[in-house]
Amino acid sequence: MMQRVINAPARYVQGAGAILELEQHYREMGKSKGIFILADRFAAQNFSADIAVSFEVANTPYRIQILLEPCSMAAVRRFLPQTQGFDMIMAVGGGTVIDTAKLLGKEADLPVMVVPTSAAMDGACSGVAVCYTEEGAYESYIKLPKNPDLVVVDTRIIAKAPPRLLVAGIGDALSTYFEAAACAKSGTLTPSGGLQSRAGAAMAHLCLDTILHQGVAAKAACEIKTVTDALENVIEANVYLSCFGFENGGLAFAHALQNGLNTITAIDSKSMHGEKVAFCTLVQLALEANRADGSLELLQQVGKFCKEIGLPTNLEELGYEDITDEQLKEAAAFCLQEGQGGKNMPFEITVQNIVSAVCTVDLMFS
Ligand SMILES: [Zn+2]
Repeated sequence: MMQRVINAPARYVQGAGAILELEQHYREMGKSKGIFILADRFAAQNFSADIAVSFEVANTPYRIQILLEPCSMAAVRRFLPQTQGFDMIMAVGGGTVIDTAKLLGKEADLPVMVVPTSAAMDGACSGVAVCYTEEGAYESYIKLPKNPDLVVVDTRIIAKAPPRLLVAGIGDALSTYFEAAACAKSGTLTPSGGLQSRAGAAMAHLCLDTILHQGVAAKAACEIKTVTDALENVIEANVYLSCFGFENGGLAFAHALQNGLNTITAIDSKSMHGEKVAFCTLVQLALEANRADGSLELLQQVGKFCKEIGLPTNLEELGYEDITDEQLKEAAAFCLQEGQGGKNMPFEITVQNIVSAVCTVDLMFS
């Protein structure tokens, strides 16, 4: 039976200074035995004092451990015995520590609280984790039985993070609506495992609307490390709406090409996930612009937005100026493989179509 399925974190909290109230949020989840906290080096150095105060004042047991390696099942197994006696797991930091804590929560059968320290991508709220080998080579994409139980975003922390991270998150969020729209046309099942819901479509649309209208103002606020309404709205779009939109709206070409580019290990482009996704969104729009219902004007408009906000719009800005025709064809072929979103487009695409679309975007926005 075809059903609509909606996945999301059970609770989402966002505001300036939210990190000072973590213990209250923990207690509101009905927990009291204590919390196992996994932090990355940056988070441990900058926020462990704030976190400790919150739990010490309330006399709630806690243990902070620092993760200094890629997210791997080996790391999860090593931390697992240390979670004994605690009734919740918390991740503080970036994508690696968040994914590790999600997997740890699954293995320990404990609820997970996520505290992202940047808005560089939409992984904090999602029910998936990307697993690597201990050496850092991509291994697998693991679908978890549920999304995080609680996500707490301190917007003051994000305002103080480098603006490039916020902009990368805008790049990740930029693709959400276009990928969901493609999936709606092709009838592809979403990562939540059902048909696209009206909620998934609406959130994806709101996500795009928010970043297009307030992205530039949010970046300006981040540059002066100040929390404004625009910044609050864009953080919600990057972290919550984009995740809700892709999990319940579907992933298509843009993320698939991003995955394809990542398989070219001979090139270390130094660009971030969201920066690559933004460029790949332009490529998706270029593919669509060739269709009867496509629009060249839309491609121009989104490309203009990327330039204005500082997202890469050509291969050189992306760090792929040395990509060979062969490598580009490999990346294109990868995104058409079974299980990749290139297959989720509402029309047939070929490696040659993709290569020409990449060149079109590269030329248009160089
Ligand atoms: Zn993404």
